[in-house]
Amino acid sequence: NTVFATDLDRINVLGSGNGGTVFKVRNKTNSEIYALKKVKEYMDSAFRSQLLRETEIPRLVDSPYVVKCHEIFQNPLGEEVSILMEYMDLGTLESLRGEVVTEKQLASMARQVLEGLNYLHELKIVHRDIKPGNLLRNSKEEIKIADFGVSKIMVKSLDKCNSFTGTCAYMSPERLNSEADGVTEEDKSNVYAGDIWSYGLTMVEMLVGYFPLLPQGHKPDRATIICAVCFGEPPKAPEECSDELKSFIDCCLRKKPSERWTASQLLSHPFLVHRD
Ligand code: ATP
Ligand code: MG
Repeated sequence: NTVFATDLDRINVLGSGNGGTVFKVRNKTNSEIYALKKVKEYMDSAFRSQLLRETEIPRLVDSPYVVKCHEIFQNPLGEEVSILMEYMDLGTLESLRGEVVTEKQLASMARQVLEGLNYLHELKIVHRDIKPGNLLRNSKEEIKIADFGVSKIMVKSLDKCNSFTGTCAYMSPERLNSEADGVTEEDKSNVYAGDIWSYGLTMVEMLVGYFPLLPQGHKPDRATIICAVCFGEPPKAPEECSDELKSFIDCCLRKKPSERWTASQLLSHPFLVHRD
């Protein structure tokens, strides 16, 4: 059941980010709804061929915890690329910002994202851009990881960290400051731990309702974030949380990547295990 680009009717724009614009689309032949991400045009031909190579990755990935990529469309010269994805009707976790989540809700969310990360890490795929804006929800109470693989290439090409503070905000200390004293070659090669940091930060944000490295309402800028991540203490779960939750967050947000738990270790953490 291949979907062709010509089968699709655009319904509306769902949003746009650094990488392009996402549309809600309907397949005329069977009324199925999808999300279609139109990747921005890139000038650089080396980058373009890399994009085409790496867009193969999402097609290989098949997990209930990762947004399914159905097709990748490209025009003959390859300068226009669109990705046809599973539609997630409740949008990103960013829309939950400021809402109060209970520990039980957080545990359910935390477990699903972790299952997705564990799946990707087992396939040796690093996401590199875990943040509320790349985690999508649907009304079946499912949460799935979006934008992997593709986001990795875009980071390289657009140097997001310089152009868009929102993205470097979730980067681990070792990625922000790879020259720092005490960062070993082993730390640098442990790229999976970078995803765990971003994940931990995202979970604290869901819990407290704002980006946890800065005072509430503070607009992030690159310098403040680097200072907070590299020289400050890692964020913690609030005092009133359970000990299991506090420990869970602590295991994600250790500054030394080698001390951070892996996705598979975190899946058997008491915060996720002693629930429901
Ligand atoms: P970045 O470029 O850093 O990834 P972003 O995640 O905000 O930023 P996009 O990935 O282009 O940008 O997505 C833009 C918006 O489109 C998202 O914020 C989300 O609201 C919506 N969106 C993306 N994918 C889907 C999807 N599969 N289903 C429903 N909405 C989606
Ligand atoms: Mg995104």
